[in-house]
Amino acid sequence: MRELYERFNLSPDSIRSIEKVKRTYPMKISRYYLDLIKEVGDPIWKQCVPSQEELLDSVNEEDPLLEERYTPVPFLVHRYPDRALLLVSNRCAMYCRFCTRKRKVGKINDITEDHILEAVGYIRQHPEIRDVIVSGGDPLMLKDHELEFVLRKLRSIPHVEIIRIGTRVPCTLPMRVTRRLANMLKKYQPLYVNVHFEHPMEITPESRKACRLLADAGICLGNQTVLLKGVNDDPKVLKELFSKLLQMRVRPYYIYQADQVKGTEHFRTTVQHGMEIMESLYGHTSGLCVPQYVIDTNGGGKIPVVPEFIRYKSKEKLILRNFEGRHVEYINPASENPAKEEFRVAVACNIRRPAKEGMPKDQYAEFDDLSVPLAIKDALDKAGFYSELVEADQDFSDNIRKGDYSFVFNIAEGINGESRESHVPATLEMLGIPYTGSGVLAQAITLDKARTKEILLHHGIHTPKYQVFSSCLQKKSDDLEFPLIVKPIAEGSSKGITNESLVNDEEQLKEQVRIITSVYKQSAIAEEYLEGREFTVAVLGNSNPKVLPIVEITFDYLPEGINRFDSHEVKWFWDSPDNPIDPVVCPAKITRSLENSIRNAALRTFKALGCRDLARIDMRLDNRGIPNVLEVNALPGLIPDPKENSRFPKACYAAGMSYDDMILAIMKEAMKRNRINDRSVLSVGGLHVC
Ligand SMILES: *Cc1c(COP(=O)(O)O)cnc(C)c1O
Ligand code: SF4
Repeated sequence: MRELYERFNLSPDSIRSIEKVKRTYPMKISRYYLDLIKEVGDPIWKQCVPSQEELLDSVNEEDPLLEERYTPVPFLVHRYPDRALLLVSNRCAMYCRFCTRKRKVGKINDITEDHILEAVGYIRQHPEIRDVIVSGGDPLMLKDHELEFVLRKLRSIPHVEIIRIGTRVPCTLPMRVTRRLANMLKKYQPLYVNVHFEHPMEITPESRKACRLLADAGICLGNQTVLLKGVNDDPKVLKELFSKLLQMRVRPYYIYQADQVKGTEHFRTTVQHGMEIMESLYGHTSGLCVPQYVIDTNGGGKIPVVPEFIRYKSKEKLILRNFEGRHVEYINPASENPAKEEFRVAVACNIRRPAKEGMPKDQYAEFDDLSVPLAIKDALDKAGFYSELVEADQDFSDNIRKGDYSFVFNIAEGINGESRESHVPATLEMLGIPYTGSGVLAQAITLDKARTKEILLHHGIHTPKYQVFSSCLQKKSDDLEFPLIVKPIAEGSSKGITNESLVNDEEQLKEQVRIITSVYKQSAIAEEYLEGREFTVAVLGNSNPKVLPIVEITFDYLPEGINRFDSHEVKWFWDSPDNPIDPVVCPAKITRSLENSIRNAALRTFKALGCRDLARIDMRLDNRGIPNVLEVNALPGLIPDPKENSRFPKACYAAGMSYDDMILAIMKEAMKRNRINDRSVLSVGGLHVC
């Protein structure tokens, strides 16, 4: 590019640096486009002249849109069901420094006629594709007859309804658009051409003429712009660009948030800035002048980003903000099913995902399979509520507010931190939305096994002797006797409990404490191991809570060498649904007096810890036959499949309830506690709560 260097009298240093970038990312500038540069560093310059910053980008990816993943045959991207992107050329009239396909353009042109035939064959075999976008590189870099070959092939496929061409040539090499080309394109209608202008300086008599030729041929013209720092990230510039395009019969179609493409970091603006620019367009200029602002995502496709014009939304009305910042109201029509819509219930849940690499395999063991919240939703919907699932993730508070819920059915275990089970209750209390189950304090305490035991001991409830270890260097106290069972202090679902958790000497104890503190990043609790029978007790209700039939956990079926407690191995391997021996017996075969002492211990525990609506309390008999409380579960598992032996539901079944009855019973307790006795709600599903 001698001409560029001479015209702008560049220093040898600048030239060296441009030449260096060129070796990684090719440079090409048409003479026409070069002539548009007024001075070094202006918006035209920035788009076409390599910058050192391209080589400094360490944050972005070569293919951030994961186009390669959606490429079933070479040079065809099939990301959306009904449309496909066909890449017909690697070349362009000018290589934009910010190009999304920087990894491809300007490199050896390896797209052959055979590739195009193969891609066309794929489209032919996929009748769902009704819209083909011919792109590249730049399709107008092909000779007229080469491009016509592609168009003719595509038009011969009956299900291809429209063809689109994406090109920057009318902007960067407008003379390429000839009357002959326009006449050729005209034969393949309905045809859309999306051009690509970035700045008003690109609108010239030549580019006007190119667009006029196409528009006169009856081709619908759209424009795509990328938001570029230092080039066009200014409302005045974009407003001028878009209104000039409209005068050329080009409708602004998309404005893209810059993709996270390697070598283009210096062009990226923040999304907040993009939204501000959009706000300055909406309503301030004609709707025709406002393109859709989209973020093209890594594999998720293009997602529109719209400034927040809806300030408030309820079933009756919306409060909207207009372009002047004034609030206006819109009243919704009366709903056809008011009772149902008014009482919207969110099922707050955390869905189980595959464990992340390098994390313990049971990382998400506490989380629910999607089938659980779906079964709860089904039960609620059948009873006439209107319910939706809401994930209890970082967006929970926003999603709950947006959903306008009156009530939450909470089964969320929480995602982060030692008080995670209390996050949903705390958030809902802040928002003033009632929910099922225990509150903040009870959830936080019951997740901590040591705090739970302190409270039990204070109330004179039996629980095994214990000691907390925050490090494996810590000494065991003398009144604690082996064997001990060692567990993480704040996990549920047998997380961190394996066959080796039962320890008989100092060395084994040290090793288990080490594992727990390093893998689960929390203290360990060591409890004296009780050999006696194990029970779990489901409690339902509030002021006068009901103890459901007692469940016994048996370990008789286990082979020798497998310890007789709920370890990871027992829960996920030995206790499988096709086990011939049912390890969970309900109602437990026990004497009346034992039953009474278990019920008593359960009720006292439920009250001492301030549980609400439901809880499951695990116990074991000590060598005197006295029930000792091991753990309190304020968020017991509610797995619907009876084969899974979920313990709380099992107790409900033994009491004659169905799964749906159980969900409604929990709901009813929570509503009664919150004094919800609205008639329209009460009539739903015959749920009489008062
Ligand atoms: C943008 C794009 C399309 C077309 O999307 P529209 O929203 O219909 O314009 C199709 N395929 C891919 C891979 C795309 O990136
Ligand atoms: S014209 Fe399009 S494909 Fe070619 S370099 Fe510019 S942005 Fe990339």
